[in-house]
Amino acid sequence: MEDNRSKSILIIYTGGTIGMIKDSVTGVLSPFDFDQILDEVPELKRFGFNLSTISFSPVIDSSNLNPEVWIKLVKLIKENYKKYDGFVILHGTDTMAYSASALSFMLENLDKPVIFTGSQLPIGTLRTDGKENLISAIEIAATEKNGQALAPEVCVYFENKLMRGNRTTKYNSEHFNAFESPNYPNLAEAGINLKFNYGAIHYSVSHKELKIHTELDTNIAVLKIFPGISKETIHTILNIKNIKAIILETYGAGNAPTEKWFLNELKNVINKGKIILNVTQCSAGSVDMTKYETGNALLKSGVVSGFDITTEAAVAKLMHLLGQKLDIDTTKSMLNKSISGEISK
Ligand code: ASP
Repeated sequence: MEDNRSKSILIIYTGGTIGMIKDSVTGVLSPFDFDQILDEVPELKRFGFNLSTISFSPVIDSSNLNPEVWIKLVKLIKENYKKYDGFVILHGTDTMAYSASALSFMLENLDKPVIFTGSQLPIGTLRTDGKENLISAIEIAATEKNGQALAPEVCVYFENKLMRGNRTTKYNSEHFNAFESPNYPNLAEAGINLKFNYGAIHYSVSHKELKIHTELDTNIAVLKIFPGISKETIHTILNIKNIKAIILETYGAGNAPTEKWFLNELKNVINKGKIILNVTQCSAGSVDMTKYETGNALLKSGVVSGFDITTEAAVAKLMHLLGQKLDIDTTKSMLNKSISGEISK
């Protein structure tokens, strides 16, 4: 039996478009006072949930976000973990996929829903998508069956779709349907009913205590190759001082030029102990460096496969793994496996 009565949900408002409301007199958009959420979105009262809110001060446009915000969020979740059945994080859409990815690595043994949502239009505007996103995210965070939360993962809910957070990418800057999970099925769909895709959702069997990881190392770079990219560009990026890992965004199934100078540049930095992680520029599909000569040359040079990871999840995973200060072989082997459902391996 699903039973969602008297659930306690903590809503954490970080900023972004969703939290804007139009002043009825001046018409100016200003941040919404989340203490008054039940007055502003009266529909929420009908759930009968116990809703609490924490608002960042100041709120931030997510384009200004940095990993300190992720640390603040996981600490807030840890402090409030026992008090609440689920968490809804209201966040700007621009970097939501990065934040959801990061939290999926930073919250080990998560057994309660942490649902990111936001909107393309402010909650205070007539055609807003914010109300539906907020209401459904709260309902999903509160839904359980026989004491088990039905979506106990870090997720993104947007426009009828619940997705595994570290599989998402923002792919449309205008449509309400702004997020995709190109390489993993949706965890739930919200139509007349909420339909959970149980087979795709991770349910903990060990129910260990939540452990948070707050060590992140930002000494990474993303290098997107393109036809005609110069040796100087490649050399400069690969050799940035203190850089420990580079995400190489390659063509198709993980292919890149086989020119000698290019492969030598890669080999040189790999020999110095840096990691090069191969992630495809395609919005869907996986790296397979055994498929073509152009991918195989990378493999032979010591490049690590990112498989079907998104760039957003690769950024978060590298920051997290480098923050653990593991030896290089362990870090590479962790990149080769799924820590939090981020790759299909
Ligand atoms: N720039 C905004 C942000 O990411 C856009 C949004 O909220 O959708 O914070």
